[in-house]
Amino acid sequence: MSSSSPKSPSSSSRPLLPYGWDADWETAFAPYAAQGLVAGRVVRVDRGLCDVVTPGGTVRADTEFVVPRDPMKVVCTGDWVAVDPEGGDPRFVRTLLPRRTAFVRSTSSKRSDGQILAANVDHAVVAVSLAVELDLGRVERFLALAWESGAQPVVVLSKADLVPDPVTLAHLVQDVETAAPGVPVLTVSALHGDGLDVLRALIGNGTAVLLGQSGAGKSTLANALVGADVMDVRAARDVDGKGRHTTTTRNLLPLPGGGVLIDTPGLRGVGLFDAEVGVGQVFSEIEELAARCRFHDCSHESEPGCAVAAAVDSGELSVRRLESYRKLVRENQWIVAKTDARLRAEIRKDWKRKGAEGRAAMQAKRGHWS
Ligand code: GDP
Ligand code: ZN
Repeated sequence: MSSSSPKSPSSSSRPLLPYGWDADWETAFAPYAAQGLVAGRVVRVDRGLCDVVTPGGTVRADTEFVVPRDPMKVVCTGDWVAVDPEGGDPRFVRTLLPRRTAFVRSTSSKRSDGQILAANVDHAVVAVSLAVELDLGRVERFLALAWESGAQPVVVLSKADLVPDPVTLAHLVQDVETAAPGVPVLTVSALHGDGLDVLRALIGNGTAVLLGQSGAGKSTLANALVGADVMDVRAARDVDGKGRHTTTTRNLLPLPGGGVLIDTPGLRGVGLFDAEVGVGQVFSEIEELAARCRFHDCSHESEPGCAVAAAVDSGELSVRRLESYRKLVRENQWIVAKTDARLRAEIRKDWKRKGAEGRAAMQAKRGHWS
């Protein structure tokens, strides 16, 4: 075996290039290469075993050696790892290369540790359907999740063919841009193929994930990007009620024009954070009231036809309860955004503005009616 000095990504690691291998990974891996270990990227994980794409093909490896007690060290799709060379049976993952980014499902209400969903993601594509009314709060929430991971978010307004009027479309883009400082906002019609080139160019030099509500058009977008009906061939079954378990062989796919797409069941389900669900349950009467507000996106500050404000006025709902609900919702946003100073600043600005407006509106109302 010739132990030739520094391998470049264009030599023996060439088969890994479509999976996102680069000179920095090469450098990070060098000490393990010296030990005779093999580099690879995890394309699927299940029950202590994972599939790793290596220069010699896809191998099945045991993850037992990677500190199982630390949930952050659990091997996940997108990880770059060092595995045993051929001959070992079973082959083990010996180390995880330090992650550049990580998507973690936070369980802020309970313990501080989370569940790792995907690693080394560069672009978080937030799909937002133009077929339904825009929910900027939801967009902000997905963006918070994206920023938190360390990935660069991109908003894709999907199903643009459903908004044929260019002026209306431009207004919708503007609305989203105000909710997404520092984030490119694209319009795409997977149906007609419009806007796909721009998206491909944006994500073509790294690893991307698709986030967004169910029905936002993620599968359709994924199929268009991959150039095959990869998502159709999945046989989904709900094993434990927590999400989709699929029989697909890979959750990580190279894109024809460059770049990599990660699509894991966990990421598909992410978006409503555990804490948010908890808050919604604790304050279910407020959520029920909110469903009766005239405006779908009512902030219960000063909108006409607000069922929440009406309940406060009638004494049915206490101001304290409403404030408490708001506080918890904000705290949850805060936890999610804590790693990104810029986002945090934006959110804080927004809270201040909303808080001031809300107080002014309440005071004006009380003054008027008392
Ligand atoms: P997912 O739940 O986010 O994966 O969303 P899907 O990809 O399953 O899409 C949800 C629905 O939107 C499906 O009925 C799609 O056919 C439809 N859809 C997706 N992309 C487009 C598009 O570009 N234009 C139109 N008109 N419909 C689309
Ligand atoms: Zn309201």
